[in-house]
Amino acid sequence: MKGYKMEIAKTKQGVPVSPGKADFEAEKNREKENEKKLLESLVADDIENKPNRCRMCGAKLGYDGLGEYTCPDCGHKEYDDYGLVRSFLEEHPGATAIQVEKGTGVSRNKITKMIADDKFIAKINK
Ligand SMILES: [Zn+2]
Repeated sequence: MKGYKMEIAKTKQGVPVSPGKADFEAEKNREKENEKKLLESLVADDIENKPNRCRMCGAKLGYDGLGEYTCPDCGHKEYDDYGLVRSFLEEHPGATAIQVEKGTGVSRNKITKMIADDKFIAKINK
């Protein structure tokens, strides 16, 4: 995001508004390309890492919603990646992606994917 200021295009049909516009477009396309590659690399990955069986007693877990699962037999709680990040952010509002990664063990790629899916909102730190 460094090296240029973002502006709203003032013309239509792709007419350059300034000599710097071509550079800006190239930069934007490169970013899009990188984002696409990242998302494609994640498709093969198990993105959500959903738990299936209770790790305490082996019973099939019931889904509570919002990434949380409860064992019907022993009451043990499990979380998928979304549930882990969500519960971490509930305890640590305003944590950075790095802090979330360290606190949950969920990889930054997965966190980025969840932000891209609008599951979480990323704000620029100033
Ligand atoms: Zn159990």
